[in-house]
Amino acid sequence: MRSDANLTAERPTYVTNLECSATGEHYPADTLQQLSQAGKPLLVRYDLARIGRELSRDAIESRPSDMWRWRELLPVRRKEDIVSLGEIETPLIPIPRSGGANVLVKDEGRLPTGSFKARGLVMAVSMAKALGVKRIAMPTNGNAGAALAAYASRCGIETVILCPEDTPEANVREIALQGGRVWRVNGLIDECGAIVAEGTRQGRWFDLSTLKEPYRIEGKKTMGLELALQLGWKLPDAIFYPTGGGTGLIGMWKAFDELEALGWIGSERPKMFAVQAAGCAPIVKAFDEGTDHAERWENAHTVAAGIRVPKALGDFLILKAVRESGGAALAVEDEATLQAVADAAGQDGLLLCPEGGATLAAYREALADGLVGVDDEVVLFNCATGLKYPMPPVENDLDRHQPIDFDAL
Ligand SMILES: *Cc1c(COP(=O)(O)O)cnc(C)c1O
Repeated sequence: MRSDANLTAERPTYVTNLECSATGEHYPADTLQQLSQAGKPLLVRYDLARIGRELSRDAIESRPSDMWRWRELLPVRRKEDIVSLGEIETPLIPIPRSGGANVLVKDEGRLPTGSFKARGLVMAVSMAKALGVKRIAMPTNGNAGAALAAYASRCGIETVILCPEDTPEANVREIALQGGRVWRVNGLIDECGAIVAEGTRQGRWFDLSTLKEPYRIEGKKTMGLELALQLGWKLPDAIFYPTGGGTGLIGMWKAFDELEALGWIGSERPKMFAVQAAGCAPIVKAFDEGTDHAERWENAHTVAAGIRVPKALGDFLILKAVRESGGAALAVEDEATLQAVADAAGQDGLLLCPEGGATLAAYREALADGLVGVDDEVVLFNCATGLKYPMPPVENDLDRHQPIDFDAL
């Protein structure tokens, strides 16, 4: 079988409509949509009964393992519209020493552009292309902008990308090199988003902000589909997800419902843990206070740039999933995050990004607090390659012109 067999396969159409995530109101598929009338995210709905009749778990397993093996559960209708850079299935890596015997890391850093933002953006850009979009704008903390620039440039869509001025330098430069028009803004991601929204009102571009169009979630949900297949159509006991806008957590929760409707998994669900940084924890505050929506977090700061999101449009969807699952929203200090990164790298040889480190730090706290047990099978999400972020400096220099002190090496 060709390795791109999933991309060249015929694509039957199973999408039925879009649906408001708050009111349930229906919207037509195959039209350009942003938020619903109620100002809430739209979700893609499929004819799951028909997919269940026409497709089996075995058929899925017999395909090449990239994310397009899930095509019946994805929104792109025509194969010509797929703007692929090779969206591989990511491995589950045990970290027995730094994590424990039952801890697996889903290493999303191996995806195109080095982060799981590729899953969401390959879908959103492919759909934008299918629907005739020529210009896209987006606020980003770095990785989403990089994925957007890459996929959009690949299919000739122009991009305007706004990021906070202290976004990791690797992100700003990769966006520019991949053809994005990138601007550093003296504000946080929601303040970049306000500029994008104003340009959208002026009709200058299509707004690809997190959850402001329906298709990024569909890409991100493949994390949940993959997990089920990789674990033998059984979900883990707990999932720790570094939560910014929450697209992945919302997407996985949706994926589990779709798999259950297909009869491919049962009704058991993992405890979902939304992990945030203590310096930017709006979802944790709302979870603790028992509210449905989260207030904006003021003076947000953390080394984990990807989860520095003071206000999330999908806050109510994140909180609902976390509560229904019996999980929790947890905040971790940056020191614990950096320690976790150092431990996973030094003891298990796996270089996590800071956001990934935050999930390991949160797992350790959850274990200590009895929220998970040592025998529970746990999946942590490492959402980007650790190579994009600053690492502790190394001061060892060796002068080969001097006598070498071998005992000191
Ligand atoms: C974007 C991002 C996150 C947060 O993902 P959401 O689905 O938006 O919550 C976490 N980690 C990294 C590295 C990211 O780039």
